[in-house]
Amino acid sequence: MAKKDVRMIMYLQCTECKERNYTSEKNKRNDPNRLEFQKYCSRCRKHTLHRETK
Ligand SMILES: [Zn+2]
Repeated sequence: MAKKDVRMIMYLQCTECKERNYTSEKNKRNDPNRLEFQKYCSRCRKHTLHRETK
């Protein structure tokens, strides 16, 4: 099972309440920068900006 894999797990954190609502995988080579997504936050009960965090 020694497979080369540059993907890593990262979390998408709500920028308003700091809740980690989503997990995602990303390729470190293709996406070296921090990503931001508009996602629904169940705590804020609306779409908020989610930022990548570890
Ligand atoms: Zn939130």
